[in-house]
Formats: sequence, structure tokens, C-alpha cells
Amino acid sequence: MKIICIGRNYAEHIKELSNERPKDPVVFIKPDSAVLPKEQDFYIPEFSEDIHYEVEVLIRIKKVGKHIDPKFAHKYYDEIGLGIDFTARDLQAALKEKGLPWEKAKGFDGAAVIGKWVPKTEFKDLKNLHFTLKKNDSVVQDGNTAQMLWPIDELIGYVSTFFTLKKGDVLFTGTPAGVGRVSPNDYLSGSLEGKELLRIKIK
Ligand code: ZN
Repeated sequence: MKIICIGRNYAEHIKELSNERPKDPVVFIKPDSAVLPKEQDFYIPEFSEDIHYEVEVLIRIKKVGKHIDPKFAHKYYDEIGLGIDFTARDLQAALKEKGLPWEKAKGFDGAAVIGKWVPKTEFKDLKNLHFTLKKNDSVVQDGNTAQMLWPIDELIGYVSTFFTLKKGDVLFTGTPAGVGRVSPNDYLSGSLEGKELLRIKIK
């Protein structure tokens, strides 16, 4: 199973990190070892002083596909979820500055939190899904898939021109504004259309 992630898919988040708006989606991969085991706490790794949460809408791929036409992309997934793309922002900034790959900052153990899956038929419009992340008791990220620069089906089309998608692969579709640091004893809880799909404790 692979985890394909999209960066810079929400204009307000591009602004908060002073990044350029990309011509094409920014794509990176996390290894399967990055998945935080279910019910496990997230431990801040010793190599970073600045771990950020990024809440994202997730798509679970249900069959093999390559060069998928966005018109038919909906046939390749039945489930929607919510996850956290944990990022060692200090390490990422140092790598970015040198023009080096981000993998160490995004693909470390535990850096991919995958919440509960929901059948897509439970939602009226995938282009209008409201989601939030709470840190302790305050909402820190509040997004809607309507704000994506590239909607879900276009992302699937785009990434499948480079990578064959396989059953069980997970697509992280990018984060809205409001990313920030976690500290020991914080807890994070993510909700999609008002339903809590993930809750984790930081250690
Ligand atoms: Zn992200």
C-alpha cells in the first residue's frame, strides 16, 4: 500500500507558508511504515522541535488504475476519510532550502494518521465537504473541499499518470490553512461533516 499526498491544494494554506501557487499539483509519497497504528498515541520524534499537524480529506482507492480520466475517477473509490499529515516543519524547511527531497520530514514513522472510513454514498456532494481539526478544545483548522485548487477526481487523474493506483492506496488531498505545532499532552480530533473520524493524543 502506498500513500500519495498532495501539497499546496488550498490557496489560504499556500499563503500561510509563503509558498508559490503551483502550476500542477505538488505530489509526494509516504511509505506504508508511516501509518500510525490504530489507537496508538503519536510520539514527537527526537529529530524535530516543530512537528505540525495538517488535517486532510482522504480517499481510499479500491481498484487498480493508470491514466485515469477524471470523468471516471469516481469509479476508483468508495470511501472517504480524514487524516493527519504530520510534518517536521523545521526539517522540511532545511531540506526545502537546499532543494532536497522532503521524505524525512513527511514520511517518518507515525507521520500518517488515517481515521475511520465512511462510504462516499453517505455524502451528498464530495465537492462540498466541511471538515475541522480541533487541538484540545479549539478549532484550529476549518476547511471545505470546495476550496481545493484541484478537486478529488482531478487529483486522481493527475497522480495516476505517474503512479499506478492499487487497491488500498490512500490519497491525502492537501491541507487548508491553520497548520501549527503540537506539544506533549495535546490531543487532536478531526471531524468530517460533523462526524468525528479521528482522535489522537500527542506524547
Ligand atoms: Zn499535507
